Amino acid sequence: MNVIKNTTADLQEMDRAHFMHPSTHMRQHAAGETPNRIINGGKGIYIHDTEGKETLDAFAGLYCVNIGYGRTEVADAIYAQAKELAYYHTYVGHSNEPIIRLSDRIVKSAPEGMQRVYYGMSGSDANETNIKLIWYYNNIRGLPQKKKIISRWRGYHGSGIMTGSLTGLAAFHNAFDLPRAPVLHTTCPHHYWNAEAGETEAEFAKRCADDLEKMILREGPETVAAFIGEPVMGTGGIITPPEGYWDAIQAVLNKYDVLLVADEVVTAFGRTGSYFGSQHYGMKPDLITIAKGVSSGYLPLSGVIIGERVWKVLEQGSDQMGPIGHGWTYSAHPVCAAAANANLDIVDGENLTGNAAETGGYFQHLLRETFKDHPLVGEARGVGLMAALEFVADKTKKERFDPNAKIGPRVSAACLERGMIARAMPHGDILGFAPPLCITKAEIDKVVDIAKQAVDAVADEVA
Ligand code: PLP
Repeated sequence: MNVIKNTTADLQEMDRAHFMHPSTHMRQHAAGETPNRIINGGKGIYIHDTEGKETLDAFAGLYCVNIGYGRTEVADAIYAQAKELAYYHTYVGHSNEPIIRLSDRIVKSAPEGMQRVYYGMSGSDANETNIKLIWYYNNIRGLPQKKKIISRWRGYHGSGIMTGSLTGLAAFHNAFDLPRAPVLHTTCPHHYWNAEAGETEAEFAKRCADDLEKMILREGPETVAAFIGEPVMGTGGIITPPEGYWDAIQAVLNKYDVLLVADEVVTAFGRTGSYFGSQHYGMKPDLITIAKGVSSGYLPLSGVIIGERVWKVLEQGSDQMGPIGHGWTYSAHPVCAAAANANLDIVDGENLTGNAAETGGYFQHLLRETFKDHPLVGEARGVGLMAALEFVADKTKKERFDPNAKIGPRVSAACLERGMIARAMPHGDILGFAPPLCITKAEIDKVVDIAKQAVDAVADEVA
């Protein structure tokens, strides 16, 4: 007889034996040396596990559960749509009502000039679509040499072959034979580490733009197709752009006929306190990547919002080449679209963007005040409801810790011991915060209080 195994220990045993996790140490996990929490529910900003432990999730999963956990309106919308029409494809002009309504609301709320949305299932696949559209665009324009894509060191754009190449973090390249041509990486706009002594934010922003211009000229502008950047860098360390950065970058791109892709997988739908990060920083992108916040992760959904300049050429391309040779079985999935509509009803109906601005402003202030004199914290930074603490060995001399001391992961572990998830970012000693956008000021007080206790505890250990 088959015995159903369902204690936590049974499930963990099966997990270690048969499940390959992303971003996990394979051997340690198989040997039971890594945390192996099995999450089985959540409400608001809290999740809970099979051991009955409740944890405040100050990273909203992977900065995606923007409306918070357990919103039954979304579950109801998923159920209703799955009963009515669980699936039909959207090739050769077929459509479904939820995707039509979703596209209409996204284009109407997006920065000016956006025309259409193409859908995928992940941020990575949406960025792959971006690159294909950009290459197609320049081929149709008769510029087949114009194919290089410039990204930034510490940018994050996914972990596929092309998108892993765009990602400017060594951990995503090593032993994968990445990055692949034709991807180039330019200066990371982190003023704290990369500015020269006495250089203002505006001067540093100008230098970043100069570096970009030099790269374009070195490569030959006729070979450079696009620049991709997150309005605020996420996985690279939650790095806000220095003052004037996007204006300076865009001036260079315009000069050399280079497209701008705003990767808004994290920033779209409210996180910065504006609906789109591009709107927050006055960016005028040609293509915008969306994922995470469009469905709050209740079901997988991503997209590429296509601006006028590219759209016109895509239409022209169809006239020359016939129907576009790009498409996936699950593109514009009706159940995912229904989840996204229900999610955006909550985002809009409860003004979560306004809350990200207001409660986010409170968070940013409190974080800076709490840690400004802390010996372990070199910088507290962020915008809206995304923030980070950067840990340093010597604040005055701006010296990093030895990476082997694993200060970031230790602070993150100390937060977890105190009942809160804040993410040790993969590059450097950085603790990241990106709570659900429904978080209250009282909950922010708790987040900052736990963070303070955790940082103090690690500071005592290293003193
Ligand atoms: N782009 C950005 C800015 C991201 O933060 C991420 C994921 O964190 C991605 C792309 C990739 O998205 P996914 O993990 O859904 O493939």
